[in-house]
Amino acid sequence: KLHNTILELKGNIRVFCRVRPQLSDDISSNQGKVFSYPTSMEYLGRGIDMTQNGQKHSFTFDKVFMPDTSQEEVFVEISQLVQSALDGYKVCIFAYGQTGSGKTYTMMGKPGQPDEKGLIPRSLEQIFQTKQALQPQGWRYEMQVSMLEIYNETIRDLLSPIRDLSRIENGTTGKQYTIKHDANGNTLVSDLTIVDVQSSREVVYLLDRAAHSRAVGKTQMNEQSSRSHFVFTMQITGVNESTEQQVQGVLNLIDLAGSERISKSGSTGDRLKETQAINKSLSSLADVIFALAKKEDHVPFRNSKLTYLLQPCLGGDSKTLMFVNISPEPSSAGESLCSLRFAARVN
Ligand code: ADP
Ligand code: MG
Repeated sequence: KLHNTILELKGNIRVFCRVRPQLSDDISSNQGKVFSYPTSMEYLGRGIDMTQNGQKHSFTFDKVFMPDTSQEEVFVEISQLVQSALDGYKVCIFAYGQTGSGKTYTMMGKPGQPDEKGLIPRSLEQIFQTKQALQPQGWRYEMQVSMLEIYNETIRDLLSPIRDLSRIENGTTGKQYTIKHDANGNTLVSDLTIVDVQSSREVVYLLDRAAHSRAVGKTQMNEQSSRSHFVFTMQITGVNESTEQQVQGVLNLIDLAGSERISKSGSTGDRLKETQAINKSLSSLADVIFALAKKEDHVPFRNSKLTYLLQPCLGGDSKTLMFVNISPEPSSAGESLCSLRFAARVN
């Protein structure tokens, strides 16, 4: 692979843990500290120790971002990974965690706060800047994006030009969105809208549209966006006009559905089906990453839509990064422990 000499990964899977700051209304009870009794969380370099009910649980990650880490500081740590998509690698970056733990903040940032832009807009800016910078060396790049959501094991196109709302209400868009992988490791989703893009501004515009589509679907189906996975995909094709070298990279940025456990007794009907679908796809993702990390012969990609969709970008020499987002409030301790355990399994 090309112009990518610095990047050195231990294996192809990395896990970063990010603990968000306490939100203002919680600070009064804890004076801004993350420690409290009987639950405490301690950061030790790349590790986190969590004590709950007198039991200490220790976890180690490739990196731990403390609550005061800025978006820029986080991006510094992933910019080379993003860059590798221009060198022809297939890259996946996931945000995992319970609802409210900072997944969307990490991915998209805070609306209207340019300093707090998340890693998606920062990645786009870097990619288009690098595209410019590589022109004098003969590189010509073409970028295409798609944005979809997976809800209840069903794909929804977020850039579809016409959204037939009556069909959405029936839980179907009338389109198939069948996933196929060709011999070259390209993923083809039938009927999915794919848009050629020239600048990060164009992609930001499409992200706004996708967010709007998500919001429309949400009211139509009486569902929260936290119950679906958001998948942003950029296909990057590069050709060098003088050397005739070719590269084909993919950047997938995924804001996963909230990982919180919903009490089984309280869920019935659609809600139960939804909970089961989320649990299934998140555990399938863990199973796949675990099998890949252990270099097992059988990787169960087909157990969920999400893992099947991303199959070519998870195996082989692709690169995967998982953010595990953690809420620091003592009331979230149970869920935080679950997230840390999930991360420990895939790390
Ligand atoms: P999720 O997408 O996991 O449900 P959000 O990203 O929406 O969670 O975060 C919940 C709230 O916390 C939002 O108001 C968000 O702006 C805020 N937040 C999350 N992470 C941070 C952070 N690192 N710094 C400041 N505010 C944050
Ligand atoms: Mg969110």
